[in-house]
Amino acid sequence: MFKVLVTRKIMQPAIDLLNKYCNVEINPYDRPMTRTELLEAIKDKDAVLAQIVDKVDKEFFDNAPNVKIVANFGVGYDNVDLAEATKRGVYITNTPDVLTNATAELAWALLFAAARRIVEADRFTRAQSKNWGPNLFLGKGITGKTLGVIGAGRIGQAFARMSKGFNMKILYYNTTRKEEFEKELNAQFVNLETLLKESDFISLHVPLNEKTRHLIGERELSMMKTTAILINTARGPVVDEKALVKALKERRIFAAGLDVYEKEPEYEKELATLDNVVMLPHIGSATEESRTDMALLAASNIVDFIEGKIPRTLLNKDVLK
Ligand code: NAP
Repeated sequence: MFKVLVTRKIMQPAIDLLNKYCNVEINPYDRPMTRTELLEAIKDKDAVLAQIVDKVDKEFFDNAPNVKIVANFGVGYDNVDLAEATKRGVYITNTPDVLTNATAELAWALLFAAARRIVEADRFTRAQSKNWGPNLFLGKGITGKTLGVIGAGRIGQAFARMSKGFNMKILYYNTTRKEEFEKELNAQFVNLETLLKESDFISLHVPLNEKTRHLIGERELSMMKTTAILINTARGPVVDEKALVKALKERRIFAAGLDVYEKEPEYEKELATLDNVVMLPHIGSATEESRTDMALLAASNIVDFIEGKIPRTLLNKDVLK
């Protein structure tokens, strides 16, 4: 029977589906598998349902001679060496769309929390009984401001769409123009510099690759308004974290909202000492609905493969050639 490794326990409906078609082994621990555990467990497997923290590289494939498909539990696949997989004829799939709204919603949660200083105010309220004051926790208004979207793909566009009630001007920067998106939201396609200089809120939605690594560094942060707020729900290395700490400390920007970090699960320790940053532990897609759909989609890709069909969200289509 087809042997599958699930590298972290996921929602039960997906396990039930896999059980109908394969022999399923699941990481028994409530933590990611160590590299040694992972390399050992994949030795006899035909498929792996992997997490984005699992590095799927040359060493991985060398240790998994039978593996035919890796279903990544996430839309981002910067953990996977796609070219190496294709070279070896291994199918790689991801989980697009089913996490788009959850991640866009979380970007808004961070935007609101950073703009209105929600986390700081919550800590303050718990610590003492002081209340209303004309200057207590002044934040930044949102309605009518300028929203800058970097990476107007599925999540970036959904994020922008959610601004409808706030009457915002939308600027976007992307590798290609998105004319339907422009028409729908009256969004303006601008270069990165213009977006950085003119936006009140800047939200990152690009994938991590060699072109987007440190897309936001010291130079870019210095172009932003001193009142601006930066939101990152994309991938940590898109932002130079050391430069961000410096900008936040020196109040060169107003605040940041982060779901992702440069060296997860680690982050620049100084971040945690700053009151103008809201920090989350990479929970962009963490809703019950989204995680269930992601698990089912990842499992369905494996089932598609077993049934001889093209997996529904196959990334490396060249593998079919
Ligand atoms: P997507 O639909 O592929 O959108 C990515 C967009 O970025 C595309 O419009 C793409 O342009 C654009 N882009 C790529 N490289 C660029 C560059 N160098 N400069 C400017 N724009 C660039 O992907 P998605 O589904 O929206 O997901 C986006 C990313 O969010 C994922 O890759 C993942 O890393 C991250 N994510 C994080 C979480 C979380 O838990 N925090 C959850 C889900 C996703 P083209 O259309 O021209 O290719």
